[in-house]
This record gives sequence, C-alpha cells and structure tokens, in this order.
Amino acid sequence: MQMEKIIEQCRESVEDFAFSEAKRWKEQHPGGKVIGYFPVYTPVEIIHAAGMLPVAVYGAGNRIEVKQADSRLPSFICSIPRTTVEMAFRGMWDFLDLMLFHPICDVARNLVQIWHRNFSHVPTDLLYLPQNLVSRRSGEYLCDEYARFKRLLEELSGKQISPESLRHSLQLYNRQRALIRRLYEIRRHSPWLISAADTYALLRVGTRIPVEEHLGMLEAVLAELPGRKAKPLDKIRVVFEGSFCEQPPLEFIEVIEDVCDIVEDDFIMASRWITGPVPEEGDPLRALALSYRDLFSYSSIQHDGRRSKSPGLLEKCRRSGAQAVILSPPKFCEPGLDDQVLFAQALQQEGIPYLAMEFEEKMTTFEPVRLQVETFAESLLFYA
Ligand code: SF4
Repeated sequence: MQMEKIIEQCRESVEDFAFSEAKRWKEQHPGGKVIGYFPVYTPVEIIHAAGMLPVAVYGAGNRIEVKQADSRLPSFICSIPRTTVEMAFRGMWDFLDLMLFHPICDVARNLVQIWHRNFSHVPTDLLYLPQNLVSRRSGEYLCDEYARFKRLLEELSGKQISPESLRHSLQLYNRQRALIRRLYEIRRHSPWLISAADTYALLRVGTRIPVEEHLGMLEAVLAELPGRKAKPLDKIRVVFEGSFCEQPPLEFIEVIEDVCDIVEDDFIMASRWITGPVPEEGDPLRALALSYRDLFSYSSIQHDGRRSKSPGLLEKCRRSGAQAVILSPPKFCEPGLDDQVLFAQALQQEGIPYLAMEFEEKMTTFEPVRLQVETFAESLLFYA
C-alpha cells in the first residue's frame, strides 16, 4: 500500500511550514538555490533548468497568527499576502535565494515593493506578464520577459542555462502535468477512489519538492488507484471554483467532502495552469513563453480578450457530470469576487444550482461551512 503512505506523507508535508524538504535539498546540494514563487504563473521549468528548486509560497494557512504583517498591509485584503509577510517577519523565508511575484492583482503586484523594503536580504523580482494577450506583440514580449528571467537566474547561479537542459526540464514538467490531468480524469469518473483533500495534498507537495520526486509519487498513486477498494457513496457531485491563488485549509475541503463529491476544482493552479503539452521541439524558451498565451486555463486572474471565462466553468460541469457548483473565492479577493457575478449569471442561465461562499486560508472554524453545504445539498433534493 505505497499509495496510503504517500498520501499520509503529503498530508504531513502540507502542514510543514518549516519547509524541511526544501532545506534538506539545499543541504544536499551545496551552492544550490531555492526560488520561492507567489501563485500562479511561474515558468518553473526555467528554475529547474538552472539547477534550482522552485518552491510555491502559499502563506501559512491557519497555522500562524498575523501580528506584524498588519503594520505593512491594508486591513481589507485576502489572507495569503498577510501570512506570507508574517512568515517573512519571522525569518521563515530566509532559506529562499529569490522571491518571485506576478502582477496577477493589485495586492500581488504591490507585494514586490513591500518585500523589497522590508526583507531586502532575500532578493525579489516581478515577472511582468502581459495584460493584453490580444496584442500582436504579446508573444514577442513574453519571450523577452522569459529571457530576462532566465538571465536573472543565470546571474544568480553563475551558470548558463542551455537549450538542452531547458528542454529536459520542459519534458519533466509536461509529464507531471499529464499525470495530474490523468488523476483528475479518474476523479471525475470515480471520486471515491481518491478524495479532493488527498489530491490537493499530493499536488501541493509537488510545488515544494524536486519534480523528479513528485513524478515518482504521482506514478505510484496512479498505478494503485484503479484497484483501490472503495465504494461509491450517494453524494451530490459538485465543481469547486475560486481557489486559483490562495488555498483553503485541508479541513475546509474535508468538511465539503463530508457532504459532496468534489469532481472538479481549481486547487493548486500553479501546477495546472498550462492545460496541454508544451511543444518539445524548437526553441524551448519560446515554447514556454507562448504556452502562457496559448495554453493557460481560464482563471479570474487572467484576462483574455479572445474568450470569456464562463464557458470554461460550464465545460467543467459538463465533463464531470456535476450537479452543482460551489463558488468560493478567498475573502477580499477582488478578481475572484468580480468573477463570482459572471459565473453566477452563466450558471443561472444554464439552470445549474450554485452555492456562493467565501473561505480564508487562516480560517479555523468549519462548522458554519458544514451547515451551509448541508443546507445547500438538502435544497437540491427539491430543485426541479
Ligand atoms: S487571493 Fe486574490 S486578491 Fe489575494 S493575492 Fe491572490 S489573486 Fe490577489
């Protein structure tokens, strides 16, 4: 039962805010650099090709009390920047060699300045992703920006990143994404074989350990999954939408799963935003840069003039046979709350019931969530 052990290990690791695996990796690789990245769109392949370890920064969930961070941040913002900054005040990110942010929202865009002023002993950078993907120049701009990021890592490591090593990294991450897609395919049909909470833990661990190790875990889980002895339960099938950036606590997911089968979700998009294989032929840096423009999953923090977001959510409902949707962006997340209106309209038009509620990564009370979800599930029994 290798799978049970792996899942147990992942669940423990998700709660390890000392990042023991990353620190161990650093000890085992003298001179090795660890690059922290705020969600969501990081070309981890370039970091890997530089011989470095990419580590996703998801704050500290409900395991830390925010004290000092509130002196640097406004009150009405989501939890992830607050716990991330609190951890920085406590020196918990001092093992990082670079902290990377993206302009996904006003909060994340401004964090780079806050970081630079307060924690300059850990260098920081902002990956300037294009806001207008329809522009003819967006592709070339992206290639230039990815090339700049590659040069930054080369300066940090003192080594050149060759096209061969980048292609190799691209192949590894293509494989990781393909296995994650396979895992979700299985869960769509047979959610009782592996819970959303276990899947979440398995994916989240993959953002903080070497991809080679994570591939081994995914392969072992996928090998055992179809033969796992588990019985389907009579639960409603729901899509969970809203956790593209800040992540809910495990307990929050478990409480929902006590009542519903979560057959689709947007957890850990940092490992899932590229939706298909990145071409392995030709210039790997260009292929990676263009994957941001052409292969990304719809999301509240991405604005693409070529397509609307609601069809993406409706497609998730269709392919998973979901009976309902839980629209649950993080509290005070502006992009997520804006899209809640858009998604709610689309679901109403299609006659798909939905429950709108919020979560916070630092929440500690889950009974009100249970009550809301149970009431929603019961109301569906009378939904005509
Ligand atoms: S949770 Fe929302 S508002 Fe907060 S940093 Fe992420 S995208 Fe921005």
